[in-house]
Amino acid sequence: MNLRDYIAEVPNFPKKGILFRDITPLMSDGKAYQFAAEEFTKYAKEKKATVIVGPEARGFIFGCPVATNLGIGFIPVRKPGKLPREAISVSYDLEYGSNHLCMHKDAIKPGDRVLVIDDLLATGGTMEATVELVEKLGGNVVGLAFLIELSDLNGRDKLQNHDILTLIKY
Ligand code: IMP
Repeated sequence: MNLRDYIAEVPNFPKKGILFRDITPLMSDGKAYQFAAEEFTKYAKEKKATVIVGPEARGFIFGCPVATNLGIGFIPVRKPGKLPREAISVSYDLEYGSNHLCMHKDAIKPGDRVLVIDDLLATGGTMEATVELVEKLGGNVVGLAFLIELSDLNGRDKLQNHDILTLIKY
């Protein structure tokens, strides 16, 4: 199946000059969505992941089906102010300014084999911060998986030493 056929390209969203890759056509096609989830599930098995972590919000869309396929847990990474219990936070740089990502302090058990799943790898900032959260809590990051990789933005440079799976490359 060619997953690329299910990604819509939207010029000038959310800002002028940006070509946004919209995954919603893929999600709305049951077979394409299932195929992507199966590819991630195979990778999670290969890496012997014991838990899946996904950044808000599109990391949930691809991470949760993998967790339920394997009967393992899913841990959400969220923007500040969303998690109700004690959380840790890391900051990461954006083009203008910075942002924070948070995870519940008791979410990861030391020694957990963590696969992080997100929809898209651009500059790698989101994933770098997510890996930092997992490692701060003693988790062992065994792989990073993305539906889409925007190769020109060199996100992989920030994620050296990690095994990466991407299903669609631009
Ligand atoms: P990065 O931190 O620069 O790698 O950006 C990746 C994050 O931004 C991911 O969590 C994506 O959900 C989001 N993102 C950036 N560009 C796009 C896009 O074209 N389509 C969908 N999500 C995007």
